[in-house]
Formats: sequence, structure tokens, C-alpha cells
Amino acid sequence: MIPSLSGGCLCGGLRYLVTAEPLDVGYCHCRICQRLSGAAAMVWATVPTAAFRYVEGRPRAYRSSPWGQREFCGRCGSQLLYRTVVQSPSLDINLPTLDAPERWPPRRHVWVSSRLPWYPLADGLPQHENDGPAAG
Ligand SMILES: [Zn+2]
Ligand SMILES: [Zn+2]
Repeated sequence: MIPSLSGGCLCGGLRYLVTAEPLDVGYCHCRICQRLSGAAAMVWATVPTAAFRYVEGRPRAYRSSPWGQREFCGRCGSQLLYRTVVQSPSLDINLPTLDAPERWPPRRHVWVSSRLPWYPLADGLPQHENDGPAAG
């Protein structure tokens, strides 16, 4: 029995529940994530689509690529997740929006080809030049 993990946006207007352990967790250094978040990298957790649901509020969506969209709070602007436009078995939540983000530590880095040179990676985790669940 896996306890559900809750999360939400900054203003509290959007709340969600995840009822499964993550399939993958990592940092994405792609340019889309950098611009979208305003941070040097984003931390995502891939979870089964069937194990994710909004329990409060309705997100807005932005089509960030031909194949994917980002969902966010229309009031405070918090970015909550990435999912493919065509229904997929998993989606990527933005890990720090969990109420207990320390529960799921990152396992790898993706898109390090666009990593900012002043953002050194010294955690010893595997690094991938591109690809990855958060692509798009
Ligand atoms: Zn909000
Ligand atoms: Zn990315």
C-alpha cells in the first residue's frame, strides 16, 4: 500500500494527489524547462498517468512543443506538470510542487547538452546529453 503524496501550486488554488511511486526522477536542463521555470534546471518525477489526479482547481495548459503541454495555475503561475498531447501512460510532475519533495531524490540529469556552464554538476548522478521523459 503506497501512501498518496499531495502537492499543489503556490496560491493553493490547484491541488493534486499522486498514488504511486515515481517511475523516474531527474533534472532537466533543456531550454524549454529553463525558460518555463526561470530556473537553471527543472526537477521532474515521472508518475503513471492513472496515479495522478487534480483534487482542487482546474489547470491551464500551454502547448510547449508539437507533442507536449505544460499545465499551470492560472492565478499564481506555478508550473505543475508536463504531459504529452496524445494520452501517454505517464506524465512528469514538477517535483518541487509536492508537499514533501524530499521524498523522491533525483536519479539522473537529462539534456545536459544545454546545461548552463556556471551550474556545475557534482552529485555523481548519470548525465545524458539529450533525451529523457521531460523532453518537450
Ligand atoms: Zn496557484
Ligand atoms: Zn526539459
